[in-house]
Amino acid sequence: MSDFDYDLFVIGAGSGGVRAARMAAGFGARVAVAEDRYLGGTCVNVGCVPKKLYVYASEFGKAFQDSRNFGWNGEPQRFDWSTLRDNKKTEISRLNAIYRNLLSGVEADIIDGRASLVDAHTVAVDGQHYRAGKILIATGGWPHIPEFHGSEHAITSNEVFDLPAFPERIVIVGGGYIAVEFAGIFNGLGAQVSQLYRGPLFLRGFDPDIRAHAAQEIAKSGVDLRFEVNVERIERGPTGLQVQLTDGTTLETDVVLYATGRKPHLEGLGLDNVNIALSEFGTIVVDEEYRTTEPSIFALGDVIGGMELTPVALAEGMAFARRQFGSTDAQVDYDFIPTAVFCQPNIGTVGFTEEEARAKFGHIRLFKSTFRPMKHTISGRDEKTFMKLIVDKASDRVVGVHMMGPDAGEIMQGIAIALRAGATKATFDSTIGIHPTAAEEFVTMREPWTED
Ligand code: FAD
Ligand code: NDP
Repeated sequence: MSDFDYDLFVIGAGSGGVRAARMAAGFGARVAVAEDRYLGGTCVNVGCVPKKLYVYASEFGKAFQDSRNFGWNGEPQRFDWSTLRDNKKTEISRLNAIYRNLLSGVEADIIDGRASLVDAHTVAVDGQHYRAGKILIATGGWPHIPEFHGSEHAITSNEVFDLPAFPERIVIVGGGYIAVEFAGIFNGLGAQVSQLYRGPLFLRGFDPDIRAHAAQEIAKSGVDLRFEVNVERIERGPTGLQVQLTDGTTLETDVVLYATGRKPHLEGLGLDNVNIALSEFGTIVVDEEYRTTEPSIFALGDVIGGMELTPVALAEGMAFARRQFGSTDAQVDYDFIPTAVFCQPNIGTVGFTEEEARAKFGHIRLFKSTFRPMKHTISGRDEKTFMKLIVDKASDRVVGVHMMGPDAGEIMQGIAIALRAGATKATFDSTIGIHPTAAEEFVTMREPWTED
């Protein structure tokens, strides 16, 4: 019998931590998990899940409008924020309980409280020390607001879900996933939304055509989208927050949401007591086994950077548990990870952007299509779907697929399987479409837009 209390002590019961704990316990390891806020972590409590529920809520307004030309008439519907917020809370509580059961079901001990490292094999929670053969840091990330005059008036995605009252006016700062998604949510729910991005075009890192199409569609949907502008100061006035911008203009609003990125959640973790190296971005440096520079301590999920997505944290958690406690030598394959931005309509993407593909493969063929979705021929909504395929000319392999349109997130999951299986453009062309769908366009794009 070892002199450790546990074989594995996991810090953080989020996506990665819970998955690693459950799998390790399933392999017979004695496991404890410390969590100081909420079981299920960011995704369940203040991320993917409540976000998607709010996206659903926000789509109804548009659906009511679109239904009129299809023959549906009736009273205009009114939105009630407290109904959505409180039903969301009930659902999240249900999920928290499921997470507790999942962990206790595999006999992992749940230790409620904030954990800190004491040494390479010891974790403290509320003054109690626990010794473990291996420690896993899965503490995720935390929203970051830059400091400026009045920054204390800004809120983050942590607070936005539970606002006491619906903001009739909201200013959203940032041009990444969270800013774009919440602009869509509040616009759909009927708020007056201004989204501010400091650069010339938001969604940096996405394919350039997607970025341009998204800017066009989001602006058409009613969001006051402003580029090359930032916040200088915020002051509370008698009728709202006064947001002074770098272009000299001022916006009055009820809420300022900062979605300017997340930083690794390492505060109070006791890193000084161990030998763990951090990268220039403040993320924990790990090797391909997720081992830190302190050999008995591992880290995974958002806290190590990379693609900060729940399925990535889950995959890392599984690979870690298999390798350290199971019999398999598992590794995560980070190629062709699909992702979606749940704006309206969705962005779905997998593989290389045009610039990345050109740099990597040299010669590429591009296929593009922009069209009005069939539904809007009758609804009258001025909304366009955009699709793009990027093909490596030498191998004919499809290496990038990008879409903005209804259900792009759902559609892209299947496309990602095809890309991971090595599908060529000829495979796409020989695949029979499903008619009438938007997705069939992916197998009927015949003429290259350009090739070089
Ligand atoms: P987390 O899930 O963040 O879990 C870390 C846990 O550790 C937390 O519960 C925290 O309380 C706990 N913790 C931290 N420090 C300590 C400590 N010292 N002691 C004890 N406990 C501690 N991803 C998607 O794939 N799809 C989406 O649609 C999506 N939407 C998102 C929307 C928003 C608004 C946000 C913020 C994120 C979203 N993400 C989405 C990202 C996703 O939530 C994260 O990638 C994922 O949760 C990372 O999992 P993790 O295990 O690394 O960390
Ligand atoms: P992102 O890193 O995606 O975007 C941050 C944005 O804020 C960028 O546009 C950035 O601009 C801008 N920014 C950064 N600093 C400042 C500043 N000082 N002033 C003004 N603007 C600034 O972070 P998010 O917070 O949107 O999301 C965090 C992560 O969570 C995402 O990267 C993603 O991995 C995950 N997520 C995933 C979702 C999904 O899967 N659907 C949904 C939500 C989150 P610039 O580009 O110029 O640097």
